[in-house]
Amino acid sequence: MGNMKRTIYADNAATTKLCDEAYEAMQPYFKEIYANPSQSYAAGTIAKRGLNDARRVIAESLSAYDREIIFTSGGSEADNLALIGVTDACRDKGRHLITTDIEHKAVLETAKYLERNGVRVTYVHVGPDGRVNPEDIERAICDDTVLISVMTANNETGTIQPIEEIGKIAKAHGVLFHTDAVQAYGKMELNPDKMNIDLLSASAHKFNGPRGTGFLYVKRGTPIGSFIHGGSQEYGLRAGTENVPGIVGMATAAKVSVDKMAERAEYEDMLTKRLHDGVMKRLAGVNVNGNFERRLPGVINLSFAGVEGESLLIALDMKGICVSTGSACVMSTDSPSHVITAITGDEERARQSIRFSLSHENTVEDVDYIIDALCESVEYLRRIREQ
Ligand SMILES: *Cc1c(COP(=O)(O)O)cnc(C)c1O
Repeated sequence: MGNMKRTIYADNAATTKLCDEAYEAMQPYFKEIYANPSQSYAAGTIAKRGLNDARRVIAESLSAYDREIIFTSGGSEADNLALIGVTDACRDKGRHLITTDIEHKAVLETAKYLERNGVRVTYVHVGPDGRVNPEDIERAICDDTVLISVMTANNETGTIQPIEEIGKIAKAHGVLFHTDAVQAYGKMELNPDKMNIDLLSASAHKFNGPRGTGFLYVKRGTPIGSFIHGGSQEYGLRAGTENVPGIVGMATAAKVSVDKMAERAEYEDMLTKRLHDGVMKRLAGVNVNGNFERRLPGVINLSFAGVEGESLLIALDMKGICVSTGSACVMSTDSPSHVITAITGDEERARQSIRFSLSHENTVEDVDYIIDALCESVEYLRRIREQ
């Protein structure tokens, strides 16, 4: 974002900037180590080594086995593979899936696809703080339930879900548990074995890796089918010549994120609280969406009474600030965020919501600039509305 006057990127839940370490690590894999890793000649073996090393780094970040990491084209594919792959492999055991109504579209739309194909789906509601009650998950379990899918942390509010409790419940009932950890990976400790997680999705571009690369952790022994048929790559679960540069970049970014996790979390949390306090001090009619205590360190979602989130987004954009209305849709004619609507039961409040997602690259000055710009814009938009 070089030649613009001042750009403050505060939309890191949408995507992040590639880190220098990942960029450097990827370079040789474009034009030097380009052989197909499936070939057994020396050049192929070198590419294969890059792939294996990357798999080990990702596996170690989760205290998992290498064999449990399946590389995919990103978070959406990992979610699709988990839901479709498991319901397919377990079709003789049952045809019931449990998820929540605040999942990412990659899970929700896959669940709808499965419904069209004979799978029953229960969408568990979350509480007003955006957290799902584990007891509600337990109550939804039937004899034929094969999979529970609950995200680790929500992408619109940053709210962290009680996944350890859900993992225990799933295990006690002999039901598999998938978690979409796309927002959480690299931001909080994740140990699938300890947390009774059978499947976990992540995506490189959400933790300063390249776009178009991700992975699905699949606990050893988990029944799962494949829906990309062809070669035997990724233990037969995902055919297709591997994106070696992307995978190497992802592993490098993963290592940096995990190594610096604690220090970045503390810093991002400080920035987020500064933003929250600064706005609350100067503006009335502001509500936090989601649970402000249990959230990812850099994410906060606010609703501004009397202000369209879409108008506020444009006003902030004119001041060089990149934020999001939370939902992927940009036209105000589209329906507002399904997440904020589900949490608050209030479509108007959902329309008034803005997500700020800060990173370790943001500064205190950035936050103070955002506070000023935000307060001026909200006051202006409220004023012209009254006229
Ligand atoms: C971004 C995101 C996805 C999709 O990941 P892609 O790599 O962009 O396909 C899925 N789930 C959540 C929670 C996300 O934030």
